[in-house]
Amino acid sequence: MAMDSAAELLKNYEVYETIGSGGFAKVKLGRHILTGEKVAIKIMDKKDLGDDLPRVKLEIEAMKSLSHQHVCRLYHVIETNTQIFMVLEYCPGGELFDYIIAKDRLSEEETRVFFRQIVSAMAYVHSQGYAHRDLKPENLLIDEDHNLKLIDFGLCAKPKGGLSYELMTCCGSPAYAAPELIQGKAYIGSEADVWSMGVLLFALLCGYLPFDDDNCMALYRKITKGVFDNPRWLSPGSILLLNQMMQVNPRHRVTVRQLLDHPWMMTGYGSPVEWHSKRPLGYIDEDCITEMAVSLQHSRNTTRQMVSQWRYDHTTAIYLLLLSKKQRGKPVRIRHLPVSDVTSCSPHHLVVQSQKTLLFTDDDDDDDDDDAEDFCYDDDLPWLTPQQKRLTCLSAEKGRDQTNHAPTPERRPVTPHSRQERRDRGREQSNKNKENVAVASKDSDIFALPAPRSPLPSRKTTTTNKNVLTTPTHNIMNHSGRRADTPKAGGGTLQDPSSRKREREERKAEGVVEILTFSPERRSRSLDMAGAAGADSGPKRRGGKVFGSLERGLDKVITLLTPGRRRGGRDGPRRIKAQYNVTLTSQTSPDQVLNQLLSILPEKNVDFLQKGYTLKCRTQGDFGKVTMAFELEVCLLHRPEVVCVRRQRLKGDSWVYKKLVEDILSTFSI
Ligand code: ADP
Repeated sequence: MAMDSAAELLKNYEVYETIGSGGFAKVKLGRHILTGEKVAIKIMDKKDLGDDLPRVKLEIEAMKSLSHQHVCRLYHVIETNTQIFMVLEYCPGGELFDYIIAKDRLSEEETRVFFRQIVSAMAYVHSQGYAHRDLKPENLLIDEDHNLKLIDFGLCAKPKGGLSYELMTCCGSPAYAAPELIQGKAYIGSEADVWSMGVLLFALLCGYLPFDDDNCMALYRKITKGVFDNPRWLSPGSILLLNQMMQVNPRHRVTVRQLLDHPWMMTGYGSPVEWHSKRPLGYIDEDCITEMAVSLQHSRNTTRQMVSQWRYDHTTAIYLLLLSKKQRGKPVRIRHLPVSDVTSCSPHHLVVQSQKTLLFTDDDDDDDDDDAEDFCYDDDLPWLTPQQKRLTCLSAEKGRDQTNHAPTPERRPVTPHSRQERRDRGREQSNKNKENVAVASKDSDIFALPAPRSPLPSRKTTTTNKNVLTTPTHNIMNHSGRRADTPKAGGGTLQDPSSRKREREERKAEGVVEILTFSPERRSRSLDMAGAAGADSGPKRRGGKVFGSLERGLDKVITLLTPGRRRGGRDGPRRIKAQYNVTLTSQTSPDQVLNQLLSILPEKNVDFLQKGYTLKCRTQGDFGKVTMAFELEVCLLHRPEVVCVRRQRLKGDSWVYKKLVEDILSTFSI
C-alpha cells in the first residue's frame, strides 16, 4: 500500500548521489544499513510517469519473477503516494556501452565472454515468458566481477498467450529494432530480441552500429533491407553469426535456443551456454535465515515464513542482500547498530539515524573534501526535510571521501573494491563460473583497467606496459559530422511507449536547468565561462576517435607530474585510479586541460556549469530541449601520473554522446 512519505526508504538505506538516469527514472547509489551492502535505488515520480505507470508496474512484476546471474536483481519495492523506489543490485562497472567505446571495440574473444552472458540472460528471460524489447549496450551493466547484468525491463512484454504470441507495440531504440517492428507488423518478442542481440553483437565487435543514419526514414530503410557492411577485422565465423541473427525475415533468424550451442558461441569453451538460473527463485538459504532469526530476534520458523512470502519489502531485501554476501564469499552478517539507532530489532522499526553512523568502509585514499551540498542533487528527494537533505548530502560526501575507486559513478570502475583479498576472491569465484572460462588475455585489449576480476585473466595496469595502449586502430564509420544537438535517428525511439519515454527523458533532463538556477553565480552559458577562464590557445582539433586513440598515443608523451603533488589541494583536481571512462592527456597542468575544455565546449554548443574541476554539461536541441547531459572532470591519475579527463553520460543518446565527447576530447589528441 502506498505510504505518505519515503521514511521506509530512509530508515533502511543511506541515499547517495545520482548514478544514472533514463526515460522513467533517476538512479541513485545507496547502502542498505543492516547489511552494509551497496544498492542502486531507482526513483520514479508517479506524476511524471503518468500513463506509463502501468509499464513500471510491469517492470516490477517482471523483475520480481526473474532471478538469474545475468539479470539485475530486484531487492525491495517501496511505493509512496508520489514516488516509486526500486532497490536493485548495484552494478559498479557501468554500462557495457561505455566499456565498448572506451576500447573502440572488443576482441572476438572478449566479445564472446560477454555475448555468452547475454545469450544466457535472454534464454532465461524468454524461458520465463518475457521478451525484453529494449536490448542495447546501455541496458547491460557490468558488476564488480566484470560480469554482465541485464537491466531496464520497462518495455518488456509477457504475452498472455505465451512468448510465441504476436505483439504489436513498437518499442525500443530504432537502431536496435527488428525490421518487422519498425514496419509495424505483428511480431514475436523473442525473434525481435534476437535481431537486437545481433545489433548488439555487431556493436561489441565493431564499436559502431550496423544500421545508422541521422535521418530516421533512411535508418528504417537500411534496417528493412538488412544490409550492413562487414569490416575487415571480422572473422568468417562472426560474419556468419551476425548474418544469421540479422535476418530480415524473422522465420529465417537463428533462435536463442540455437544460439546456446552455436559453433561461434562454443569456440574456446567446448560447452553450450549455461542459461539455467544459478539463483532459482524461491530458494531459501538456511544460513541467511539463521542470521536473520538471531539478529532480528524471531524464531527460525517465523523468519522462514516471513521470507517465503517474497513481498519485496525490507524482509526480502535483508534476505537477498545476505544471500548476495554469502555468494560473494562475505560473512553472512547483519550489522549491529548502536542501541540508540535501533528502536526494535524488527526490520520495520529501525529509526532514521543511519546517515551519521554507518559509512562506506571500502579503502580509499581520496580525501576529496568538496562541499557536499553543491554536489547533492536532491531535486528528486522532495520529501526530505532540510535537515535530512543535509544529512543525506553529508552521507553522500562521506561516501565519496571513502570510496575513491568504488561506488560513485564518477569513478565507475570495473573493479569496485581495491583490496587485494577481494580481487583474489573475485577471481576465485569467477573461475567457478562456467560462463567465465578463461579466455586468453591480450595486452592490447586493455587500457587503464584496474586489476582483473573475471572473466579476463592477466589484465595489466598501465603502469609499465606500453602494449596496453596499442589496440589496433580502425575507422569509426557513420559517426562523423553529426552535430551533437541534432537529434539522431539511431538514438531516438519509435512510437509509443518509447517516444513518451523519450519525451519524459527530455523533461527530466530539464531538471538540469533547475540545478543550474540553484547557484546563480555559477550558472553560465559556456561562452561566458570560456571568456572568464582565460582559456588558452584554441583547440587544435584532430578528427577521428579519441577514447582509444588518445590513450594509445600516450606512451609517446607521458610527462610525469611534479613528484609529491598528490592532489591539487583543497580546490585541486581529484586523484583517481585508472578506469575505462577516463581519457589520458599529454598535459602536465590540470588547469591547462580545464581551460582547454572551457574553451572548446562553447564551440561545440555545449552549455555547462563549472564546479571546480568538474563541468556539468548539457546540449539543447530545438526549442531549448535538453538533449544530453554529461559530466567531464579533470582529474589526476595515480599511475601513470598524468592529467586525465573523466567522462560520464547522464542522459541522452549514447552514440551521439560518444561522437560529441570524442570531438571535445580530440583537443588533447597528440
Ligand atoms: P529507465 O528505466 O528510466 O530507462 P534505467 O533502468 O535504464 O532507467 O536506468 C538508468 C541508468 O541508471 C542506467 O542506464 C544505468 O546507467 C544506471 N543504473 C540503472 N540500474 C543500475 C544498477 N543496478 N546499478 C548501477 N547503475 C544503474
